[in-house]
Amino acid sequence: MSWEKNVRKVVPYTPGDQPNKAGMIKINTNECPYPPAPGIQKVLAELDISKIRLYPDTTAAPLVKALADYYGVSEKQVFVGVGSDDVIAMAFLTFFHGSEPILFPDITYSFYDVWADLYRIPYEVIPLHEDFRIHAEDYKKKNGGIIFPNPNAPTGVFESLDVVEEIVSANPDSVVIVDEAYVDFGGETALPLLEKYDNLLIVRTFSKSRAMAGMRIGFAIGNEKLMKLLNDVKFSFNSYTMNLPSIVCGVEAVKDDAYFKATLEKMIKTRERVKKELSGLGFTFPDSYTNFIFATHKTKPAREIYETLKEQDIYVRHFNKPGIDNYLRISIGTDEEMDRVLAFLGEYLKER
Ligand code: PMP
Repeated sequence: MSWEKNVRKVVPYTPGDQPNKAGMIKINTNECPYPPAPGIQKVLAELDISKIRLYPDTTAAPLVKALADYYGVSEKQVFVGVGSDDVIAMAFLTFFHGSEPILFPDITYSFYDVWADLYRIPYEVIPLHEDFRIHAEDYKKKNGGIIFPNPNAPTGVFESLDVVEEIVSANPDSVVIVDEAYVDFGGETALPLLEKYDNLLIVRTFSKSRAMAGMRIGFAIGNEKLMKLLNDVKFSFNSYTMNLPSIVCGVEAVKDDAYFKATLEKMIKTRERVKKELSGLGFTFPDSYTNFIFATHKTKPAREIYETLKEQDIYVRHFNKPGIDNYLRISIGTDEEMDRVLAFLGEYLKER
């Protein structure tokens, strides 16, 4: 067809399945198994729907203020978007506009190469080392930008702030994006490094630790200059990204720090218990600082376990990708859910 030559063709990102069956255990997309802050229900019920007639605040100012206060930064250092996917996509468009390849690990969030392809950004993937580690030396080469999650996904591996700082300080001519989607579950944030480095952008999400994947809220924190550039691109793309309910619910979530901390504590406790039990069942995994465990079994192929669990309506994530295709990414559900999963695995793995 003649028009096809003018079309942008892309290979899209494949999100995890979103099955919806009664009684299923859905531990495949790293959602929080607990509800978000209870105040959100009230805020939604009290939302004056006549306000929906109007466009929302283009700057999402109340949410930006809540986040700035919470993290002790200026409002000019905060940018919010429709999930961190939106924030990172905007950051790619803004900061990765050079001719040198951008760098990211070969095993990492599988959206990075999709955005790079979409925006025609050259990229080079940097192999992880043994035990899925990131080595700072690998990122000391010419590049047009750097991005990595810390802790990394889908491995769950956390690199110390020394490693992060070494990468940021070695690359003053590039923007380094640290995707902290999972940092609340036990890692250490790079926020303190912002005082020292003007090329660091930190991205966070409400989807995991704040149990709000359905609201689509993500944000970035960086210096004022980066935020201005990011906003210029956002306002050249779509001014009204954050809808009104997301803004008010986001503010409410940030207010209830006690609930946030209690939920995290519960999930971390479950994760530590599940680690021990999975080890007992013959699984090995890099130590996880996230709300998932990236596990491989000593004898049973991951694909087989994945299929068998699926037949039981237990959904975990399997990546059909060389190097990690014998691993399962198991999100941390409630204690009851994890008990059922572990009990089933115990029986199933005993059979052979
Ligand atoms: N970064 C990483 C590392 C992720 O795993 C995810 C979740 N898929 C995201 C960013 C995006 O999350 P969201 O758009 O829901 O904020």
